[in-house]
Amino acid sequence: MSGAHFAFTDRWGGVSAAPYEELNLGGAVGDDPDAVRANRELVAKSLGLHPRLVVWMNQVHGNEVAVVDGPWNVEHVPQVDGLVTAGRGIALAVLTADCVPVLLADPVAGVVSAAHAGRPGMVAGIVPAAVAAMVRLGADPSRIVARTGPAVCGRCYEVPEAMRAEVAAVEPGAYAETSWGTPAVDVAAGVHAQLERLGVHDREQSPVCTLESQDHFSYRRDRTTGRLAGYVWLD
Ligand SMILES: [Zn+2]
Repeated sequence: MSGAHFAFTDRWGGVSAAPYEELNLGGAVGDDPDAVRANRELVAKSLGLHPRLVVWMNQVHGNEVAVVDGPWNVEHVPQVDGLVTAGRGIALAVLTADCVPVLLADPVAGVVSAAHAGRPGMVAGIVPAAVAAMVRLGADPSRIVARTGPAVCGRCYEVPEAMRAEVAAVEPGAYAETSWGTPAVDVAAGVHAQLERLGVHDREQSPVCTLESQDHFSYRRDRTTGRLAGYVWLD
């Protein structure tokens, strides 16, 4: 892919102590801030990125997207669930532990986006909002490359029947059933259904279920735990 880069972390290779072991990248989960900083620097270095040019967000399960022109002032990190930039050299990052990390890139337009799509955000339309923000910066959905990372799968994400009905009323693609036969939601399937309708056809979905994988953080499994990150950037 001409110049577009996507990366998803797992939980190993960092310095955080239990229950955040080892590579926790989330700054709001109770881990030692020095460990989180060290982990972020380790990942940036391994990806060939400058840690200061990796831009994060304060995620709130909404559908707002912020345009990034450079690093935030640390006291003014926006409360959004999507970032978009046309700035070469800037990497966008999204934190998850079961929610779907969505990375988007149009290498021709030079525009990338990272979005946090949990169940509420997917229903609220964070994915269409991210694509629309990219289009405003010159992207074309037919050129957008989409990658979604490790997330809780539809066979594990049990929800009450009424919640499944509410989600499926908005996004039928997310209707699911657990492996034990109860109502479930498949957020990643919903994200991909939305992208397909938006004309984003070059897509790949991680096969990893965070709840089933001991190599990934899962909030539903462990509650107090670390966060994985997805990164997107252009050369
Ligand atoms: Zn699963």
